[in-house]
Amino acid sequence: MNGAFPKWRKEFSEIADVHSQVLQNISLRVELAFSAFFHRVKAGEKPGFPRVKGDGYDSFCFPGASVGYAVEGGGLRLSKITEPNSRIKMRLHRPLVGKVKTCCVRRIGCKWFACFSVEQEDDFLPKSDEAIGLDAGLNSFMALSDGTFIENPRFFRKDEKALAKAGRKQAKTKKGSKERRKANKVLSRIHERVRNRRHNFVHQTARRLVNEYGMIAVEKLVVKNMRGTHCLAKSISDASWSMFRTVLTHKAESANREVIAVNPAYTSQDCSACGYRPDGVAGRTKKKLSDRWHFCPKCSASLDRDTNAAINILNLAVNTKPQNRKQNHKQNHNGITLCQVTPVEAPAFRQESNHYFFGSSACWASSSPWCFSPVGWGICWKACLTGS
Ligand SMILES: [Zn+2]
Repeated sequence: MNGAFPKWRKEFSEIADVHSQVLQNISLRVELAFSAFFHRVKAGEKPGFPRVKGDGYDSFCFPGASVGYAVEGGGLRLSKITEPNSRIKMRLHRPLVGKVKTCCVRRIGCKWFACFSVEQEDDFLPKSDEAIGLDAGLNSFMALSDGTFIENPRFFRKDEKALAKAGRKQAKTKKGSKERRKANKVLSRIHERVRNRRHNFVHQTARRLVNEYGMIAVEKLVVKNMRGTHCLAKSISDASWSMFRTVLTHKAESANREVIAVNPAYTSQDCSACGYRPDGVAGRTKKKLSDRWHFCPKCSASLDRDTNAAINILNLAVNTKPQNRKQNHKQNHNGITLCQVTPVEAPAFRQESNHYFFGSSACWASSSPWCFSPVGWGICWKACLTGS
């Protein structure tokens, strides 16, 4: 496809106005979309045929270091977009530290963002022998194995109400009307606020845990079980939990701390104090969702069920063989840690020539930070998270 661009440039004036590297990035996206598609077909899944989402592109990317773009005097210069001596005004929310590798311009809602990926040295924290187990709580955001809880922030519930209200209002308007456009704008603004708050909460929580503990044990995520949640509050919390996991893993890696994911089977049922297994007809007798307390008939241990699960998760992680843990740190040739690496879940990580697959999403391993996932294109976490 790259070879066809020079010819197309002569035929179509709209293509001639686009920077060559941006065009090449588009062909990369198409290639990634199709290779992910065929990969899933081969794996016996039923993927949707690759398509352009919505009414066109919401982003474009300059994949080279300082090729086609420049940050100058608080503004952004983009080749073929800004006039030779003018810049787009930009509000830098954080100084650019390290070597800028790529620049991606994205539209989110009604706003435009420039997202830079930078290469940085890892900032290792001093070694720590402290360890903690985490369990996604039923009532709280998570339970820690030391008996404490991290509560769901109150804004989750507030946002849920605001979303429902704006959604109802939008549903009442006629398609294509001026009111509809207005309602859409309100709705997208609320979604943006929810996203930002969730982002903030997740980053702060993960940072605190990584600073405090040398080893953090979590349960392996089973994404299939998390789909189809109809309760809005629960789905906001679920989305935050999986985002938390990703952020935690990245922060831990660049601080040289360990996140170990363990198989969560029976962690709710078994006793964390004596290992008692409540055997039932098939496997273990399951606790009901309403059983908030763990009481052991053998050793009389009595504690919150989520705390019990968190301790079990920690114990499982401590017993994970060190040689299995080593697979955690996958580094590419440039020393940039790859995105979305989930520790100990080695089978979920597959490599095919230059593509790295994590479950159903694929990530380009070279200097381009674009990720393709079933929900659409997004910048690789590592790129956005670097330096945070
Ligand atoms: Zn017990």
